[in-house]
Formats: sequence, C-alpha cells, structure tokens
Amino acid sequence: MVKVAVTGAAGRMGLRILHFLNQAQDINIVGATEAPGHSAIGSDAGTVSGEGEIGVAITSDLSQASADADVIVDFTSPSATLKNAELAKSAGKSMVIGTTGFTDEERDRLNELAESFPCVFAPNMSIGVNVMFEITKKLASILGDEYDIEIVEAHHKLKADSPSGTALRLGEAAAEGLGWDFQNTARFERHGRIGERGDKEIGLQSVRGGDTVGEHTVMFFGDGERLELTHRATNRDNFAKGVVRAVRWIYDKSPGLYTMKDVLEL
Ligand code: NAP
Repeated sequence: MVKVAVTGAAGRMGLRILHFLNQAQDINIVGATEAPGHSAIGSDAGTVSGEGEIGVAITSDLSQASADADVIVDFTSPSATLKNAELAKSAGKSMVIGTTGFTDEERDRLNELAESFPCVFAPNMSIGVNVMFEITKKLASILGDEYDIEIVEAHHKLKADSPSGTALRLGEAAAEGLGWDFQNTARFERHGRIGERGDKEIGLQSVRGGDTVGEHTVMFFGDGERLELTHRATNRDNFAKGVVRAVRWIYDKSPGLYTMKDVLEL
C-alpha cells in the first residue's frame, strides 16, 4: 500500500487527485493540506472531494499531514511547492509535483533539492500531452529549420502563469529536435512595429478565458503548407490519472528528478 499526502487538497486539481487516489485499491490517503486560513481546513478530505468521509482532516501543517506518507503530491504554487520540497528533503519523502510557473531560479532550486529525494516533476501529467512532447521533438527534427514553429495555448481565466508550463515544455521539445537553445530562441508575444519574423524563433502565444481546461497547438509553417499538432484537455481527470501512475512509479525510486517520460517509459 502506498501512503500519500495531498497538498492544495481543495484546489481544482487537488479535488480530482483526491478522487482518483481514493479509488485506487493500492493507495491510501493519509494526509491533506490547504493554505493557512483556507475555508477547507478542518474538513474531511473525502467529504470535500465528494467521496464521503475518509478520516483525514485537512490541515495547514504538512509535516503533520505527511508524517506517515511515502509520497507527497503537490499542485499548489511555486513558493508553496519549494517549501514543501524542503520538507520532503529533510523528512525523506518522495514527491509528485505538478505545479507550474516557476522562475528559472526557483526551478534551479527545485532541481537542487530533488537530488536528495525521489521526485516526479511534470508541467503536464496527461498521457496525450507527454506523447505530444515526443512527437513535437521528432517533427521538428524531421522538418528542420525551413519550417517556422509557433505554439498557441489557451487556459481558463484564473490561471496565474503565462505561457503555460506545457507550452514552455513543447517549445523546449521543438528546440531539442532542432538542436537549438530554447532560452535564446523563444519569442513571447508580438506587439507593435517589430519587423519580420526571425528565422531562428519559436513563438509562444497565450489565450485566457472562461473555464478552458487547457489547449495546446504546435504549428509548423512551411512554404505552401502548415502542419498542426493539437491537444485539448476537456476536464482535469486526465491529469489526475497521470498523478496516480506517477505515485505508483516514484515511491520506491532512488533520489533524483524524473519526468512523466520516465513514468510512462516513452
Ligand atoms: P488552484 O485551484 O488554485 O489550487 C491550488 C490550491 O493550493 C489552492 O486551494 C491553494 O489555496 C492551495 N495552496 C496554496 N498554498 C498552499 C500551501 N502552502 N499549502 C497547501 N495548499 C496551498 O490551482 P489548480 O488549478 O489546482 O492548479 C495548481 C497548480 O497545478 C498550478 O500551478 C497549475 O498550473 C498546475 N497544474 C498542473 C497540471 C499538470 O498536469 N502538471 C495540470 C493542471 C494544473 P488558496 O486558494 O487559498 O491559495
């Protein structure tokens, strides 16, 4: 039995993660947290997620909530996730992290911390999107630099970070396929008289509105043709199911940072 603590338990993702973890026969939810002052503190995690009582009260204290846990699942915010990763390191817990929106410095710090505990860190836990990462890299390497690559993503209006972590990863995958450095070729938004598109650019554009769960399109523009690769998430269950797979995979691994590519053996 794998024992799991879920942070951000009453969030959009936290609720679906609780649902699918609760359904898994080989997983036991032993703790759940929310941000200090959150209205769900003190409530039963199963009741909040609509499963019925599971005997786990939501607290704001992760060291208490994860005392018996093998794995901490974290879909919160970059600052909360980094704090939780410090605890995972000192307490010797594994982690599955889905939080996005880290700065380069925060990501470096997470990489450093995760040298000391087993951690799956993925901006998108869906199987379809992780296959899309691989296909994007392959298409970029086949089509080469004659094709202009643009990435467009759409999300709900409450999303805090732009572009999405998934769009950034798609850009990195395209850059890898071309042998380019993504940091030096990424072009975020276009505005004003900025002149012609450069040859060595990967464009990223973000659209925000309504309750859009997450849509990503990678466009390869050639002369006289355009190839598009699109993924549309219609609800959050695909991410939460990926989390269950990541939990089962990570709990007995050696310390280090892993991705869904490792979990799915792509
Ligand atoms: P959300 O609805 O805002 O949920 C986040 C929850 O975490 C909120 O309830 C928040 O409480 C809580 N929280 C904040 N600080 C905390 C702390 N220190 N301890 C415990 N809980 C804390 O957001 P979401 O849509 O679920 O997304 C969460 C993150 O996952 C985002 O970064 C998002 O981009 C990412 N995401 C990743 C994937 C993937 O597949 N990897 C998929 C979807 C979303 P408050 O509301 O009080 O701040």
